[in-house]
Amino acid sequence: MEIDQHKSMKMTPQRIAIMKYLDGNVTHPSAADIYGSLRGEFPTMSLATVYNTMEILKEQGRVVELSIDPAKKRFDPNVGPHHHLICTQCSKVVDIFTEFPLGLTEDEKHGFKIVGNHVDFYGICGDCAAAEKERS
Ligand SMILES: [Zn+2]
Ligand SMILES: [Zn+2]
Repeated sequence: MEIDQHKSMKMTPQRIAIMKYLDGNVTHPSAADIYGSLRGEFPTMSLATVYNTMEILKEQGRVVELSIDPAKKRFDPNVGPHHHLICTQCSKVVDIFTEFPLGLTEDEKHGFKIVGNHVDFYGICGDCAAAEKERS
């Protein structure tokens, strides 16, 4: 992620820290996750600052908002095309970079010019499956 002086976003140390935290981050964190991770280093940081910054980054196309959990927005700093594996128990999100042949017929396109696609796979991750096995 490029950390530069952008016209529409004042670069404060807190915002730079948020962008550094997101750079290469594959955990798809929520604003609360980001806040929790940086609060120790920036005691004056507020959750509102994080929300605010994420909103700007989203507008600038530097992060994508995930709609997995409407109650808890998660963010993906990888804005390139990829798919997700989602654990229905712990909400872990894993990136998949395979390109799936998802060709639509002219009928299925309903007149749309297709520019992209995104597939969410749901399941139970290895950690949750192992924990479940231990409990039983
Ligand atoms: Zn899990
Ligand atoms: Zn992702």
